[in-house]
Amino acid sequence: MRAEVLQVTFQSFYALDIGIRGTTFALYIRRGRALGQILREVTQCYTLLSTGRAVSRTFKDVLLSALQYLGTYAASGVLAIIAFYLSLLSTSLPPARHQRAAIDRAVQILEEKGYDREVWLIRHTVTFRGTDHWLNFFTQKENAYASTNFPYQIITVYPDFYTKAVDDTERAMVLLHESRHLLGENENQAYAYVWKQRKNLGWTISTHGTTESYVTIEQQTRENAPELFNCPDKPWDDCTE
Ligand SMILES: [Zn+2]
Repeated sequence: MRAEVLQVTFQSFYALDIGIRGTTFALYIRRGRALGQILREVTQCYTLLSTGRAVSRTFKDVLLSALQYLGTYAASGVLAIIAFYLSLLSTSLPPARHQRAAIDRAVQILEEKGYDREVWLIRHTVTFRGTDHWLNFFTQKENAYASTNFPYQIITVYPDFYTKAVDDTERAMVLLHESRHLLGENENQAYAYVWKQRKNLGWTISTHGTTESYVTIEQQTRENAPELFNCPDKPWDDCTE
Protein backbone atom coordinates (compact mmCIF):
# COMPACT_ATOMS: atom_id res chain seq x y z
CA MET A 1 0.00 0.00 0.00
CA ARG A 2 1.35 3.43 -0.81
CA ALA A 3 -0.51 6.65 -0.17
CA GLU A 4 1.15 9.66 1.43
CA VAL A 5 -0.97 12.27 3.14
CA LEU A 6 1.20 13.39 6.02
CA GLN A 7 4.93 13.13 6.31
CA VAL A 8 6.96 13.74 9.46
CA THR A 9 10.75 13.78 9.20
CA PHE A 10 12.94 12.89 12.19
CA GLN A 11 16.07 15.00 11.69
CA SER A 12 17.34 14.17 8.20
CA PHE A 13 17.53 10.39 8.44
CA TYR A 14 14.07 9.21 9.42
CA ALA A 15 10.68 9.70 7.87
CA LEU A 16 7.22 8.71 9.04
CA ASP A 17 4.48 8.58 6.42
CA ILE A 18 0.88 8.35 7.49
CA GLY A 19 -1.39 7.59 4.58
CA ILE A 20 -5.11 7.21 4.12
CA ARG A 21 -6.93 5.55 1.28
CA GLY A 22 -10.62 4.95 1.63
CA THR A 23 -11.22 3.83 5.21
CA THR A 24 -7.76 2.33 5.72
CA PHE A 25 -4.87 4.07 7.40
CA ALA A 26 -1.29 3.11 6.63
CA LEU A 27 1.92 4.11 8.34
CA TYR A 28 5.44 3.81 6.97
CA ILE A 29 8.67 4.26 8.87
CA ARG A 30 11.92 4.03 7.04
CA ARG A 31 15.53 4.89 7.64
CA GLY A 32 17.44 6.18 4.64
CA ARG A 33 20.21 8.48 3.56
CA ALA A 34 18.01 11.12 2.02
CA LEU A 35 14.39 12.12 2.05
CA GLY A 36 14.04 11.47 -1.66
CA GLN A 37 15.24 7.94 -1.15
CA ILE A 38 12.77 7.47 1.67
CA LEU A 39 9.89 8.54 -0.53
CA ARG A 40 10.97 6.18 -3.28
CA GLU A 41 11.86 3.15 -1.19
CA VAL A 42 9.15 2.54 1.34
CA THR A 43 9.74 -1.06 2.31
CA GLN A 44 7.77 -1.48 5.51
CA CYS A 45 4.06 -1.06 5.44
CA TYR A 46 1.73 -1.45 8.40
CA THR A 47 -2.00 -1.39 7.98
CA LEU A 48 -3.76 0.28 10.86
CA LEU A 49 -7.37 0.08 11.93
CA SER A 50 -8.07 -2.88 9.68
CA THR A 51 -8.27 -5.41 12.53
CA GLY A 52 -7.96 -4.82 16.24
CA ARG A 53 -5.08 -7.26 16.67
CA ALA A 54 -3.07 -5.85 13.82
CA VAL A 55 -3.60 -2.33 15.08
CA SER A 56 -2.32 -3.04 18.58
CA ARG A 57 0.78 -4.90 17.35
CA THR A 58 1.60 -2.28 14.73
CA PHE A 59 1.10 0.66 17.06
CA LYS A 60 3.28 -1.01 19.68
CA ASP A 61 6.04 -1.67 17.14
CA VAL A 62 6.00 1.89 15.91
CA LEU A 63 5.93 3.29 19.44
CA LEU A 64 8.88 1.13 20.46
CA SER A 65 10.81 2.21 17.38
CA ALA A 66 10.10 5.86 18.09
CA LEU A 67 11.18 5.46 21.71
CA GLN A 68 14.31 3.65 20.57
CA TYR A 69 15.23 6.51 18.25
CA LEU A 70 14.49 9.11 20.92
CA GLY A 71 16.54 7.12 23.41
CA THR A 72 19.47 7.04 21.03
CA TYR A 73 19.37 10.79 20.54
CA ALA A 74 18.93 11.45 24.26
CA ALA A 75 21.90 9.23 25.11
CA SER A 76 24.02 11.02 22.51
CA GLY A 77 23.06 14.37 24.03
CA VAL A 78 23.92 13.24 27.56
CA LEU A 79 27.29 11.91 26.43
CA ALA A 80 28.04 15.21 24.68
CA ILE A 81 27.22 17.16 27.86
CA ILE A 82 29.41 14.86 29.96
CA ALA A 83 32.30 15.24 27.49
CA PHE A 84 31.91 19.03 27.58
CA TYR A 85 31.86 19.03 31.39
CA LEU A 86 34.96 16.83 31.59
CA SER A 87 36.77 19.13 29.15
CA LEU A 88 36.12 22.04 31.53
CA LEU A 89 37.55 20.09 34.45
CA SER A 90 40.54 18.74 32.54
CA THR A 91 41.67 22.21 31.42
CA SER A 92 41.65 23.72 34.92
CA LEU A 93 43.12 22.96 38.33
CA PRO A 94 41.35 22.45 41.66
CA PRO A 95 41.99 24.87 44.55
CA ALA A 96 44.99 24.16 46.77
CA ARG A 97 44.32 22.59 50.14
CA HIS A 98 44.61 25.87 52.10
CA GLN A 99 42.37 27.55 49.53
CA ARG A 100 39.80 24.80 49.90
CA ALA A 101 39.84 25.34 53.66
CA ALA A 102 38.97 29.04 53.16
CA ILE A 103 36.10 28.05 50.85
CA ASP A 104 34.79 25.57 53.43
CA ARG A 105 34.90 28.19 56.20
CA ALA A 106 32.90 30.60 54.05
CA VAL A 107 30.32 27.91 53.30
CA GLN A 108 30.12 27.19 57.03
CA ILE A 109 29.24 30.84 57.66
CA LEU A 110 26.47 30.66 55.05
CA GLU A 111 25.11 27.60 56.81
CA GLU A 112 25.17 29.35 60.19
CA LYS A 113 23.30 32.31 58.68
CA GLY A 114 20.52 30.05 57.44
CA TYR A 115 21.18 29.84 53.68
CA ASP A 116 20.28 26.16 53.57
CA ARG A 117 19.35 25.93 49.90
CA GLU A 118 22.48 27.72 48.72
CA VAL A 119 24.70 25.63 51.01
CA TRP A 120 23.11 22.41 49.79
CA LEU A 121 23.78 23.38 46.16
CA ILE A 122 27.38 24.33 46.91
CA ARG A 123 28.14 21.14 48.84
CA HIS A 124 26.33 18.67 46.61
CA THR A 125 26.44 20.04 43.06
CA VAL A 126 29.46 22.34 42.75
CA THR A 127 32.96 21.58 41.56
CA PHE A 128 35.41 24.30 42.62
CA ARG A 129 38.33 25.21 40.39
CA GLY A 130 41.35 27.36 41.17
CA THR A 131 42.28 28.27 37.59
CA ASP A 132 40.31 29.16 34.49
CA HIS A 133 39.19 26.37 32.15
CA TRP A 134 39.07 26.93 28.41
CA LEU A 135 35.51 28.24 28.38
CA ASN A 136 36.35 31.07 30.80
CA PHE A 137 38.85 32.44 28.32
CA PHE A 138 35.94 33.16 25.98
CA THR A 139 33.57 34.65 28.55
CA GLN A 140 33.69 38.01 30.25
CA LYS A 141 34.56 37.75 33.94
CA GLU A 142 32.02 39.39 36.18
CA ASN A 143 34.44 40.22 39.01
CA ALA A 144 37.89 39.37 40.38
CA TYR A 145 36.65 37.06 43.15
CA ALA A 146 34.88 34.15 41.48
CA SER A 147 32.79 33.13 38.50
CA THR A 148 30.13 30.47 37.97
CA ASN A 149 29.37 28.35 34.94
CA PHE A 150 25.66 27.58 35.04
CA PRO A 151 24.29 24.93 34.56
CA TYR A 152 27.59 23.06 34.79
CA GLN A 153 27.83 24.05 38.46
CA ILE A 154 31.51 24.96 38.26
CA ILE A 155 32.72 27.84 40.43
CA THR A 156 36.17 29.20 39.62
CA VAL A 157 37.69 31.01 42.59
CA TYR A 158 40.33 33.68 41.88
CA PRO A 159 43.19 34.95 44.10
CA ASP A 160 41.26 38.07 45.24
CA PHE A 161 38.83 35.74 47.02
CA TYR A 162 41.64 34.81 49.40
CA THR A 163 43.66 38.05 49.51
CA LYS A 164 41.37 41.00 48.73
CA ALA A 165 38.53 39.75 50.94
CA VAL A 166 39.52 40.62 54.49
CA ASP A 167 37.79 37.74 56.27
CA ASP A 168 35.58 34.70 55.84
CA THR A 169 32.41 36.81 56.06
CA GLU A 170 33.41 38.65 52.90
CA ARG A 171 34.23 35.33 51.28
CA ALA A 172 30.79 34.07 52.32
CA MET A 173 29.28 37.13 50.64
CA VAL A 174 31.09 36.23 47.41
CA LEU A 175 29.91 32.62 47.55
CA LEU A 176 26.34 33.73 48.32
CA HIS A 177 26.45 35.74 45.10
CA GLU A 178 27.79 32.77 43.13
CA SER A 179 25.24 30.42 44.69
CA ARG A 180 22.44 32.57 43.28
CA HIS A 181 23.84 31.88 39.81
CA LEU A 182 23.59 28.17 40.65
CA LEU A 183 19.85 28.80 40.87
CA GLY A 184 19.87 30.33 37.39
CA GLU A 185 19.71 33.96 38.50
CA ASN A 186 21.30 36.71 36.42
CA GLU A 187 23.64 39.47 37.63
CA ASN A 188 20.83 41.86 38.53
CA GLN A 189 19.14 39.26 40.69
CA ALA A 190 22.36 38.00 42.30
CA TYR A 191 23.69 41.45 43.19
CA ALA A 192 20.30 42.60 44.47
CA TYR A 193 19.85 39.49 46.60
CA VAL A 194 23.24 39.80 48.30
CA TRP A 195 22.78 43.53 48.91
CA LYS A 196 19.42 42.91 50.57
CA GLN A 197 20.94 40.11 52.63
CA ARG A 198 24.01 41.96 53.89
CA LYS A 199 22.57 42.68 57.33
CA ASN A 200 21.65 39.04 57.88
CA LEU A 201 25.06 38.06 56.55
CA GLY A 202 26.84 40.38 58.97
CA TRP A 203 28.48 42.26 56.13
CA THR A 204 27.34 45.88 56.58
CA ILE A 205 28.73 49.38 56.28
CA SER A 206 29.39 49.40 60.02
CA THR A 207 31.37 46.15 59.98
CA HIS A 208 33.02 46.20 56.55
CA GLY A 209 32.24 49.63 55.07
CA THR A 210 35.87 50.60 54.70
CA THR A 211 37.10 47.41 53.03
CA GLU A 212 38.05 47.41 49.37
CA SER A 213 35.63 44.57 48.73
CA TYR A 214 32.68 46.44 50.27
CA VAL A 215 33.38 49.55 48.21
CA THR A 216 33.82 47.49 45.05
CA ILE A 217 30.71 45.36 45.54
CA GLU A 218 28.57 48.39 46.40
CA GLN A 219 29.65 50.08 43.17
CA GLN A 220 28.98 46.91 41.17
CA THR A 221 25.58 46.55 42.86
CA ARG A 222 24.68 50.13 41.94
CA GLU A 223 25.57 49.32 38.32
CA ASN A 224 23.82 45.94 38.15
CA ALA A 225 20.80 46.62 40.38
CA PRO A 226 20.12 50.39 40.09
CA GLU A 227 16.52 49.91 41.22
CA LEU A 228 17.80 49.50 44.79
CA PHE A 229 19.28 53.00 44.79
CA ASN A 230 16.40 55.26 43.80
CA CYS A 231 15.12 56.21 47.26
CA PRO A 232 16.07 59.88 47.85
CA ASP A 233 14.65 59.80 51.38
CA LYS A 234 17.15 57.06 52.42
CA PRO A 235 20.86 57.46 53.12
CA TRP A 236 22.89 57.29 49.90
CA ASP A 237 19.57 56.77 48.04
CA ASP A 238 19.81 53.16 49.21
CA CYS A 239 16.33 51.66 49.50
CA THR A 240 17.66 48.85 51.69
CA GLU A 241 18.91 51.23 54.42
ZN1 LIG B 1 27.63 37.21 39.24
